[in-house]
Amino acid sequence: MKMEKAEKKSEGDQKEKSEGDKKEKSEGDKKEKSEGDKKEKSEGDKKEKSEGDQSVEQKEGAKVPSTSEDIKDQKGVSSPVNVSPGKADRSQFDPSRPNYHPVDHACWVQGQRVPYLAVARTFEKIEEDSGRLRNIETLSNLFRSVIALSPEDLLCCVYLCLNQLGPAYLGLELGVGETVLMKAVAQATGRQLDKIKAEAAEKGDLGLVAESSRSNQRIMFQPASLTAVGVFNKLKDIGNMSGNSAMNKKIDIIKGLFVACRFSEARYIVRSLAGKLRIGLAEQSVLAALSQAVCLTPPGQEFPPAVIDAGKGMSAEKQKSWIEEKSLILKQTYCEMPSYDVILPVLLKEGIDELPRHCKLTPGIPLRPMLAHPTKGVGEVMKRFDEAAFTCEYKYDGERAQIHILENGEVRIFSRNQEDNTTKYPDIISRIPTVKRESVVSCVLDAEAVAWDREKKQIQPFQVLTTRKRKDVDAADVKVQVCVYAFDLLYLNGESLVKQTLSRRRALLKESFQEKEGEFVFARAIDSNDTDAIAEFLEQSVRDSCEGLMVKTLEKDATYEIAKRSHNWLKLKKDYLDGVGDTMDLCVIGAYLGKGKRTGMYGGFLLACYDEDNEEFQSVCKIGTGFKDEDLEQHYKFLKEHILPKPRPYYRVDPSAGPDVWLDAVQVWEVKCADLSLSPIYKAGMGLVKKGISLRFPRFLRIRDDKKPEEATSGGQIADLYQKQQVVQNQGDKADLEDYY
Ligand code: AMP
Repeated sequence: MKMEKAEKKSEGDQKEKSEGDKKEKSEGDKKEKSEGDKKEKSEGDKKEKSEGDQSVEQKEGAKVPSTSEDIKDQKGVSSPVNVSPGKADRSQFDPSRPNYHPVDHACWVQGQRVPYLAVARTFEKIEEDSGRLRNIETLSNLFRSVIALSPEDLLCCVYLCLNQLGPAYLGLELGVGETVLMKAVAQATGRQLDKIKAEAAEKGDLGLVAESSRSNQRIMFQPASLTAVGVFNKLKDIGNMSGNSAMNKKIDIIKGLFVACRFSEARYIVRSLAGKLRIGLAEQSVLAALSQAVCLTPPGQEFPPAVIDAGKGMSAEKQKSWIEEKSLILKQTYCEMPSYDVILPVLLKEGIDELPRHCKLTPGIPLRPMLAHPTKGVGEVMKRFDEAAFTCEYKYDGERAQIHILENGEVRIFSRNQEDNTTKYPDIISRIPTVKRESVVSCVLDAEAVAWDREKKQIQPFQVLTTRKRKDVDAADVKVQVCVYAFDLLYLNGESLVKQTLSRRRALLKESFQEKEGEFVFARAIDSNDTDAIAEFLEQSVRDSCEGLMVKTLEKDATYEIAKRSHNWLKLKKDYLDGVGDTMDLCVIGAYLGKGKRTGMYGGFLLACYDEDNEEFQSVCKIGTGFKDEDLEQHYKFLKEHILPKPRPYYRVDPSAGPDVWLDAVQVWEVKCADLSLSPIYKAGMGLVKKGISLRFPRFLRIRDDKKPEEATSGGQIADLYQKQQVVQNQGDKADLEDYY
């Protein structure tokens, strides 16, 4: 029944389309074939499907004359049909076109595996356009087609867009070295390695070199086309190989892929392999595109889907808020269960509203940590929290530790970026049984691990903690001791607590654990709304070697917020005490060649904040102070490996502030500045204030290895700080004093 309908619709489509499309070979042949294939599929060749590669298309592959070698090369990754039956030329696929129809405008038909070219074309369109909302729409159109035609391929398409091989917390890295990639490009295209190297240096993008090299090649036979799942599986195979002996095997797989590449496919395969797609598509956009796709073209419909665009007839405003609301469900779910492997099957089967019921916080899987909003002083805290009850906790200067106790007794520790730090902290693991009460079967704790001097019984600076080995630490060899300062409890005995108030979570934390000096301690806190008491506590925190205070709502708006940008947690740093402005975490995107003593190194750097809304790095200042000689040497050594021939399309920089060399946004620095000013040159917070904002007298403090470039201080935060600074200045001396704590 289902299939009958499908065939009817697709026949209709084909007729309509074929009139407009270039006719290639015998249309009839293709139709016959495709219908036959569909039938095969409908007969439930489930095993083949689940193996991913063994698609309908490959069966066709066997019918195409090619050498046995070719077949071996292409097995599992390809199909020989470049143009789907009745479908437009795949190379013209355009998911950014207006009024996109997920069935009619797709470049494959129902039941076929998604062609990799559809994914590559989507990347091309996104790369060409810098508008975030348009790009979300483009991506959502691809997803709508996948949902309507080949829902089983949604997972691999999402991973391809994110350039991940699996859930981020598993840390599966692709990152094939440039040398290996160049060799593979050279071997696959028959070009000389030297030429490839020179061209890559000139273009700054091996992906483009691979793409143009392919088109120079004379094609001996009609190579089979790639499928999204085929490419994804090959990338996974490569990611799973390790050791030196793997190099040749990797090159062979990569060559196999290149041989089948068409149009821009080689560009994105190379970039995926190198570890970066460089299209400026962040995870939040992928999540937004997914939500938009399932809202407009709901999954689980019979084919042809009756609902193609559920937003039709809604006002733009209404549609936007409807999609945003649904998007929040997906984002919140993703924060608690950051695994598409788990989420997507539920999304496809049950729909977006059902996600929270099926995908819950689970000990053993790290959730996104809640972050804090910077503030300018006690005065601002009082204004923001107004009548609400709040608590002030010490802000410890160490490393975030999300401690998971699993039902089977296992303990796992995750970093702020969801990396598995379990083997870094055997000492913490072994002390958990001694501090946990018997009532605790499973839980997730939020805490800070801080270097601790056992003899002097005091906190040590963050720098001491960084000297600790990162992996496979033997408890007997631990030199830098740490004390865990616990400040939140997010899960307890089967229940997620993220929707509970902080005062409840904190009460449960204290009931569930006991303190042990120098090993496990609750974050020091006062619950006061007295300005003087808070100011005194802030000073005390600094004397006790902390960074300042974290101020958190206790009852109202006091849930553990991860998906939204919230102001439930404010940070109040000690820098305000010095009377020297803020510290910010900024990304290095360019460098200036050193002069005099700094000749042969970089003497200054161009820094940028990250604007989440536009997904771009906005220049914010040039920095040349605060560096020790060793710092400059270290920066030069590290950054020269990340030179770009031209700025990324998602760098917002005024031409007059262009650096001597452009750098890939790979490192975040903590920087302190005197204050913020409006600037005709720098671009931070553009659109939020009259001009861009820049930092005055910035000084380098340290590298923030724990932050990704996209986690740099945002344009919005800088605009906020600037506006507050203006308010403070306008309020005159009294407010100035009060706010400057
Ligand atoms: P920042 O990295 O400057 O944005 O500050 C937020 C970080 O402060 C968190 O990610 C924690 O690692 C750390 N931190 C230290 N003490 C606390 C606390 N009492 N509550 C929450 N976070 C804390």
